Amino acid sequence: MTIKPLAILLTTVTLLSAAPSAPPSADDKHISVYSPVATYSLPILDRAGREYVGLLELLEPLGRVSSQSEGRRWRLRYNAVNAEFVAGSARAKIRGRDFDFIAPFLLENSRGLVPLSSLSGFLPRFLGAPVNFRESARRLFVGDVGIQISFQPDANTPPRLAVNFSAPVNPTISTEPGKLRMVFKRDPVVSPGSQSISFDNSVITHASYSENNGDAELDLAANEPLLASFSTDRRTIIVSAVPQTPAPNVVGPGPQNPAQAPPLSAPGANVAPGNVNGNNNTNANVHRILAVVDPAHGGEERGAALTDKLAEKDVTLGFARLLRHELEMRGFAVALLRDGDTTSTLDQRAAAANVARAAIYISLHAVAQGSGARVYTALLPVEGTSKGVFHAWNAAQAPSLPVSRIVSAAIVAEMQKREFPAQGSFASLRPLNNVFMPAVAVELAPGANGVADLTSANYQQRAASAIANAVASVRDRLGVQQ
Ligand SMILES: [Zn+2]
Repeated sequence: MTIKPLAILLTTVTLLSAAPSAPPSADDKHISVYSPVATYSLPILDRAGREYVGLLELLEPLGRVSSQSEGRRWRLRYNAVNAEFVAGSARAKIRGRDFDFIAPFLLENSRGLVPLSSLSGFLPRFLGAPVNFRESARRLFVGDVGIQISFQPDANTPPRLAVNFSAPVNPTISTEPGKLRMVFKRDPVVSPGSQSISFDNSVITHASYSENNGDAELDLAANEPLLASFSTDRRTIIVSAVPQTPAPNVVGPGPQNPAQAPPLSAPGANVAPGNVNGNNNTNANVHRILAVVDPAHGGEERGAALTDKLAEKDVTLGFARLLRHELEMRGFAVALLRDGDTTSTLDQRAAAANVARAAIYISLHAVAQGSGARVYTALLPVEGTSKGVFHAWNAAQAPSLPVSRIVSAAIVAEMQKREFPAQGSFASLRPLNNVFMPAVAVELAPGANGVADLTSANYQQRAASAIANAVASVRDRLGVQQ
């Protein structure tokens, strides 16, 4: 297990601080620049009813650049290209030739500002390459960097949609009823050809693409909650309905009357939590409770080296598959956050669990030291009075923490009952802090046979069966706490 300290996210706006008289506009406008050498975002400034951007900052990530101001004159050198601008004048000299801006060049505290509308006109003179500037979307493409999107619907059960990209992508994925949204802040994705595409798919009905304020957005419309997962190479995002199957005829050793999970009720049904335990549901298509099992690490991120040859990521995957089977036998629907050797960030793992609206999240780790198992729940950071998106993200677990502790205690008790050494623990452990639903992390340590136990199906099986029994025993407590 690798316990990572909570990331502190800081947004530095050093470029703006150089011009204290120019606060960002209220709606925080920015331009995204995509080039083969760098992808970045710059603030846009409103001056006299027009949008401007700092020219030095715009060129800096692309090459060697220097500037010099002298009175109203501003000289700029980019690689071998010289240019000269005059404050208040729309005419500049670039590479020895005149260029007329659409509005005057501005000089503020030695910082040269150029009108956004002129970018496609003058930038090729500096760069020696064409640019594609989509002004209304504030997205600037330098060279041939666009990432193509294509779709591959699959009508199998459950219905899936593969969204393919011509290069790896890293969008932020979120959900709201009837919709799964991917926002691309740093990926130069381009329109799939049409702004709206319909699919012959019973669950995922269509996709729409839009661009705004430096971001691209792809929305998938669906009539059921969706789950998204990345392929190993991050060129494909598989979107599928959260697994939903009729209530099992065979119920495992859990309670006789498994409760439905409110988060998985059909969108629009609006079933209030606590209102679903009764047997008055006339809908024959009873949903199973969804458990998300997260085999920690994966891909290039190998986790702990348990032996010279054994990586933690491989133990967690095998363990996760056993746990999936044990949970399914007890009537749960189970989604693994990876079912192969793929890499995901902690934020992506938390987002996937949240997007799926799982009733419980179980992260699995393995360690070569110690014995038995350690069951972690989140230790939430002590927060100041500041409220904001990062506060909410780091404390997403707070409302569900009491139930997480109940689940943890149940797992520890069940393991001890089977003479499997186990201990409960708290840790500032991501992504536990970032998931809304009850969440635990189970760290598997060797038993009497040492590290060999970690790859023993028999040993893993004992642990998985204890976890599944414990989770089943508290199933009526699960779900997102309101
Ligand atoms: Zn680990």
